[in-house]
Amino acid sequence: MIEDIERVLLEESIILQRLDDLAQKITLDYQGKDLTVISLMNGSFVFMADLLRRIPLPLQIDSWSISSYHGTRTSGRVEFRQNHIADVKGRHVLILDDILDSGRTLRAVFDRLEAESGATNIRSCVLLDKKVQRHTPFVADYAGFEIPDEFVVGYGLDYNERYRNLPFIGVLKAEAIARHAR
Ligand code: 5GP
Ligand code: MG
Repeated sequence: MIEDIERVLLEESIILQRLDDLAQKITLDYQGKDLTVISLMNGSFVFMADLLRRIPLPLQIDSWSISSYHGTRTSGRVEFRQNHIADVKGRHVLILDDILDSGRTLRAVFDRLEAESGATNIRSCVLLDKKVQRHTPFVADYAGFEIPDEFVVGYGLDYNERYRNLPFIGVLKAEAIARHAR
C-alpha cells in the first residue's frame, strides 16, 4: 500500500498538531451552545475521531453517508445515501468533511439543512481546502490545510475505496491509479 505513494504531503504528526489549533478554536466558538457535529462519510471518519477527541464540549454526533467522487474525478452529482437525518432544530450544526474541492458536496449539504432542519446556525470545517476554481462558490468556516490541486489519499481519503487507512496524506503514483482504476 505504502509503495503506491509518490509523495507524502502531510505527515500524521503535522495533521495532529493542526487539529490541536482547530479544536481549540472550535471549543471557544461553541462554548455554551448546543452543538451537533455532522460528519460526511466515509472520508471524514479519521478526521472526525481525531478532531472531536480534542474538543471537550457536550456535543452530539451524526454522520451522513454521501458520495460524489468516482475514481479521481468528481462525478458532479451529490448522492445522499440515507433519508433520516438527526433532529437539529434550534441547534448549532458543524459539518465536517475531509476535503473541499468543487464545493458541490458542502453546498448540497447546506441546502438540505437550510431547507429541512430548523438549525439555528450551520458552519463547515474541512481538513483540506483544495486551491481550485470552485464549481460552486463555497468558503469553509474552519480549514486545516490548503493543498494544491492534486488527487490525495490517506487519513480517511480513498481511491476507489483503497488507502483510507494510511495514517498520512499523500499523492498516488500514476501506476497505482492505473492499476486500481475501474
Ligand atoms: P466537492 O464536492 O467539493 O467537489 O468534493 C468533496 C468530496 O470529493 C470530498 O468529500 C471527497 O470525498 C472527494 N474528493 C475531493 N478531492 C479529493 C481528493 O483529492 N482525494 C480524494 N480521495 N477525494 C477527494
Ligand atoms: Mg467525501
